[in-house]
Amino acid sequence: MAKPVALTMAEKDSSAAAKTIVVALAGNPNSGKTTIFNNLTGARQHVGNYPGVTVERKEGMVSFGGYQFKIVDLPGTYSLTAYSIEEVVARNFIIQERPDVVIDVVDASNLERNLYLAVQLQELGAPLLLAFNMSDVAKSRGLRFKLDLLSKLLGAPIVQTIGHKREGMEELLRTALSIALGKLTHQPVRISYGREIDKEIRKLEALIESEDGTGNDFKPRWVALKLLENDSAVREQVHSEKVLQAAEESARHLEKVLGDHPEIVIAERRYGFISGACQEAVRSTAEARHTLSDRIDAVVTNRVLGLPIFLLLVWLMFKFTFTASEPMVGWVEAGFEWLGRQVSSAFGHSSILESLVVNGLIGGVGSVLVFVPIIFLLFLAMALLEDSGYMARAAFIMDRIMHRIGLHGQSFIPMLLGFGCNVPAIMATRVIASRKDRIVTILVNPFMSCGARLPIYTLFIGAFFAQSGGTVLFALYFTGIVIAMLSAKLFRRYLLPGPSSPFVMELPPYRMPTLRGIFLHMWERGWLYIKKAGTVILAGSVVMWFISSFPSAPTAGPAPGGETGQSIGSRSDSGASGDPLSAQPGALRLQQSYAGTLGRAVSPFLRPLGFDWRITVALLGGFVAKEIVVSTLGTLFSVSQTGQEAQPLRERIRNATWPDGRRLFSPLVAFSLMLFCLLYIPCLASIAVVRKETGSWRWPLFLIGYTTAVAWVASFVVYQTGKALGIGI
Ligand code: GDP
Ligand code: MG
Repeated sequence: MAKPVALTMAEKDSSAAAKTIVVALAGNPNSGKTTIFNNLTGARQHVGNYPGVTVERKEGMVSFGGYQFKIVDLPGTYSLTAYSIEEVVARNFIIQERPDVVIDVVDASNLERNLYLAVQLQELGAPLLLAFNMSDVAKSRGLRFKLDLLSKLLGAPIVQTIGHKREGMEELLRTALSIALGKLTHQPVRISYGREIDKEIRKLEALIESEDGTGNDFKPRWVALKLLENDSAVREQVHSEKVLQAAEESARHLEKVLGDHPEIVIAERRYGFISGACQEAVRSTAEARHTLSDRIDAVVTNRVLGLPIFLLLVWLMFKFTFTASEPMVGWVEAGFEWLGRQVSSAFGHSSILESLVVNGLIGGVGSVLVFVPIIFLLFLAMALLEDSGYMARAAFIMDRIMHRIGLHGQSFIPMLLGFGCNVPAIMATRVIASRKDRIVTILVNPFMSCGARLPIYTLFIGAFFAQSGGTVLFALYFTGIVIAMLSAKLFRRYLLPGPSSPFVMELPPYRMPTLRGIFLHMWERGWLYIKKAGTVILAGSVVMWFISSFPSAPTAGPAPGGETGQSIGSRSDSGASGDPLSAQPGALRLQQSYAGTLGRAVSPFLRPLGFDWRITVALLGGFVAKEIVVSTLGTLFSVSQTGQEAQPLRERIRNATWPDGRRLFSPLVAFSLMLFCLLYIPCLASIAVVRKETGSWRWPLFLIGYTTAVAWVASFVVYQTGKALGIGI
């Protein structure tokens, strides 16, 4: 039998040998576990059985650095499920006997498969040390490891060993000692299993915690995961009926949404995590790709092709969204116009009630609901990309760019979702493990130009940039992205400094999305948007209606600018109602309303950006929701100086003047305004969700100040520069 490796060192400080350090050796069969065990313990071995089962239990002793080590050779396993007795023995030993260190002997020449066990040990909460054994074989196969990175990504120190040559044994013991003495703390890594599964795990975890059905040997998250994996041994340990029932329900739900058993998807995700880690930290000179997923990835995550393919897909996504939604938007719009007419004739044209319902409710809420088809289709396209597994690749591709701004690829998906609506996008940051990264991602999200800004762009591009609409639109979106990135970098450096967290871009295999899953995801996010229309925007519209209708109550006529359908988004600019009663001179009344008073009080601050008090009122309304900017403009500019009521809003805006007769809008002012709308204060719903997700008022308040300051400066620079150079005036 081999001689113990470290006897010479061990003798030095034998007086300190107070405590026996228990080290468990785990690993796949044939990874060299027994070889390492023999190297370490020499002849000091003891062979027995684990209680009650016929699995051999080998133990040996070794002294090192003044400490006694008891080394236990666990049965070789590929995994830690309950399918084989070896696996149950191995994990029960770790859970119940709590070894000071678990050394996972990994066959480094076959890393991806071997790390599957490592990840499970990690999830079990074991104090893990990875021995990259067979490193000679790995080297001869041309594999090179970025050990520091891998160690960070996997949350455990790594020691390279060559078992049969006894290389690395001393370092193995030294590192094990550091872990046992608490000198080497490792950051636990938490794998994300995808939105659906994570949600169920969190739910179960909370329930297990409150029900405490398993005693305190197991960690609640691990139990939750195992229950979803349908682990019979863990199920037997759980005594709470409620937990078991909830787990079953979750599993059933997941099966429907994912179209597969949760345990299969969970395993896939684990492999995805490992595959992502290896993509980042293992270089191979002789690359061998196997599966279909790998072959697709070879193209899709290619260093050269990756980004163009991704951009093409995003472009297709937007194209699809806007083309497919076109007719539907028309239907919704027509529906609201029809509704407005019905209400008008039912209430009588001049009543306050009519004004409230038509201008306030239908106008305000309608202007938002018109965009529901766009939002839903955008979310549908995103769900498709997400559920198929492509989105993970997109994040992977963007990872390098995101690192430059102090974030990583994981922050990218919420930012992309922000193009639909910032509210669900901010909620989607929950997958980000690091709190700092998460807050930064939340804070920059409102700069991603959401669907609610589109009506504003559409209106002004239609009025002033008919020829170059696409370019202007692109410039706006792009500006938002650039400012988001600069802000992220700024926040990461000064506001939330710290090293960026180690993170593995997961690459789960591609899978055919289920219809149910896609529609569920689309619905979940889209529903938030509708809820926003039904609550925040409804209330906001009523308030806007009220402050622009009073104190001079429209008893003798309709509300200022009352015009059916006028406020329904930008598209209504072609469909002015021509309602004869709305031709009443309301300009003065409007000016004297609360809105007018407020607008005139605030407008000096916005004068340097080229805005008058009416624009100011609209922008104030936009705080409730950006869509309200358009509906308010519709109200405020419905009374044109020329008295031509039937003009579309676009025309009326073009013809609007300052009191001295100069034109109010020019392409420059229009652009300044669009820019301001892009950047300034996030809507109420966003603020509320930021408050909820960050758990304090500090961040939403900061966000309000920051965005408004950025918007003001940006518009100021654009407007003043344009004016000085004579561009667009
Ligand atoms: P176990 O099943 O994990 O206990 O693996 P063993 O310790 O029985 O080792 C399996 C085989 O791998 C034996 O023939 C060892 O000599 C060999 N082996 C162990 N470590 C290494 C190593 O680092 N490099 C190489 N090339 N072979 C090794
Ligand atoms: Mg063995």
